[in-house]
Amino acid sequence: MLIPKRLGQTDLSVSPLGLGTVKLGRNQKVNYPSAFDLPDDDQVKRLLDIAWELGINLLDTAPAYGTSEERLGKLMAGSGHDWVISTKVGEEFADGESCFDFTPTQVRVSIERSLRRLRRDYIDMVLVHSDGNDSAIIERYEIFDVLAELKRAGWLRAFGMSTKTLEGGLLTARHADLVMVTYNLNHRAEEAVIDECLRLNKGVMVKKALASGHLCSDDATDDPVQTSMNFVFAHPGISSAIVGTINPQHLRDNVSKALLALHQD
Ligand code: NAP
Repeated sequence: MLIPKRLGQTDLSVSPLGLGTVKLGRNQKVNYPSAFDLPDDDQVKRLLDIAWELGINLLDTAPAYGTSEERLGKLMAGSGHDWVISTKVGEEFADGESCFDFTPTQVRVSIERSLRRLRRDYIDMVLVHSDGNDSAIIERYEIFDVLAELKRAGWLRAFGMSTKTLEGGLLTARHADLVMVTYNLNHRAEEAVIDECLRLNKGVMVKKALASGHLCSDDATDDPVQTSMNFVFAHPGISSAIVGTINPQHLRDNVSKALLALHQD
């Protein structure tokens, strides 16, 4: 069973493996190795039940993931499971296009909508969904001050940014509760962000641990998923790796391999 641990200095406790939910709500303009149909409600419900049974308590979503938030809100309702939810602000995906707005007004509007869609009184984690200009967003919009105010007002428990640059990741580590960073065998460029979070005792969520699935078909490696998990969890600064899947067998496989990598089996 996955053993949850405290996320940085927050009062949230998260499983070392979280479930990424892009594929629950969006199948256009995504970067996965193959096209896929969105799962139906029964399939999502089953996936969530399996995840919970295996010890996953963390779900990562975003307004930019199409219908993901709305579906989670509906399908989590009445399940009795105390999920920790991470969602985002700043990016929208509508009519096949992404657009970005990091203004304080839009941050509030977006969180209010996420609260409604997720059917929650507060959101556990809110991350800024960066367009790549991490440092400019932080400095120009003073976005962490806006989120800190909403945290004090009880709208959220913790905040951070899903970053795309080393500089932005380091700034986020210093000024927020957590960073969501890309980290996998093919991408170590932001590893110093994880080191910094470890030094400052801040939370780290890894995105794209399997390089959006591209690492899973590496014929040169005996067990690419295990190799990927071993790599990610070897860093002591990782709070949780958010791995996306809509395949129950992959979900089970990921949990067993994460347990092996974490020596929690
Ligand atoms: P990922 O977790 O690295 O990989 C997901 C892909 O790997 C899916 O196509 C999945 O396909 C496949 N997969 C998963 N487990 C597998 C297994 N055991 N064997 C074979 N294939 C497997 O990539 P990601 O979904 O891009 O990123 C993870 C999560 O991070 C997202 O869902 C999202 O929550 C978050 N994220 C955030 C941002 C951001 O900017 N904030 C960007 C990207 C991602 P199946 O469905 O067939 O298993």
